[in-house]
Amino acid sequence: MFLKGKTAVITGSTSGIGLAYARALAAEGAAVVINGFGDADAIEAARAELASVSGAGALYDAADMTKPEEIGAMIDGAARELGGVDILINNAGIQHVAPIDEFPAEKMEAIVAINMTSAWYAMQAAVPHMKAKGWGRIISTASAHSLVASPNKSAYVMAKHGLVGLTKTVALETATHGITVNCISPGYVWTPLVEAQIPDTMKARGLTRDQVMNDVLLAAQPTKAFVTPEQVAALALFLCGDAAKAITGANLSVDGGWTAM
Ligand code: NAD
Repeated sequence: MFLKGKTAVITGSTSGIGLAYARALAAEGAAVVINGFGDADAIEAARAELASVSGAGALYDAADMTKPEEIGAMIDGAARELGGVDILINNAGIQHVAPIDEFPAEKMEAIVAINMTSAWYAMQAAVPHMKAKGWGRIISTASAHSLVASPNKSAYVMAKHGLVGLTKTVALETATHGITVNCISPGYVWTPLVEAQIPDTMKARGLTRDQVMNDVLLAAQPTKAFVTPEQVAALALFLCGDAAKAITGANLSVDGGWTAM
């Protein structure tokens, strides 16, 4: 239970990778704030499970990552209710797949706001709480698409590359305050986000579901296997520990070899 006494805010944690982060941190005794959308009963069940596992409290905050004032209120609320914001994981994300000349501008704006700009606002609100304690961990879920591009993902690739630049900058600004700031860049992880883009990719590329799974998604991943949310969360847990205190400004891949190609 090495995170006893710490509080973590994890954006976009009602499903997929975010929920796996919350479970991993709670299992080490952290109080957690989960966030995101979804079925109210399922969210409450997840919150109750996290509270009982951590023994240190778990809250749900419905802040919309497109709304800066809601992001700030979530961070300050966590500090007020749970004693601080020691760990911030920027994880909320959405995807849309289309060639640039058919890409709806409002989808692009939403992807940039949720996948990138929300992390800027959350870091701006969280860093003062971390500086006050002389300790902090900021982790953002970037993507293999923060390092390489794929067709039809202009907004996502743009946002994820930006997230890496934000990470490097805030890492430099906080380096003498006991705060580390890093990105984790997964390859394809089997979550609702990946499942949801299969129909659009089928349409954009004129492929069957099996062809998208094997020839588009797993084609990029030399291991020919999806990464699991738990494998991503295990790296986040490592980054929260003392052994990782010299790792800052980094973008760490968990991508089955994708970006080695
Ligand atoms: P997911 O769809 O399971 O989870 C996304 C989470 O973000 C959900 O909790 C959802 O409610 C939340 N969310 C969406 N819009 C929001 C908003 N406006 N405000 C607050 N919360 C919002 O997807 P996932 O695959 O677990 O993705 C999590 C992160 O991992 C994303 O940033 C994604 O880009 C990144 N990622 C995923 C993969 C993958 O293959 N699944 C690969 C690389 C990176």
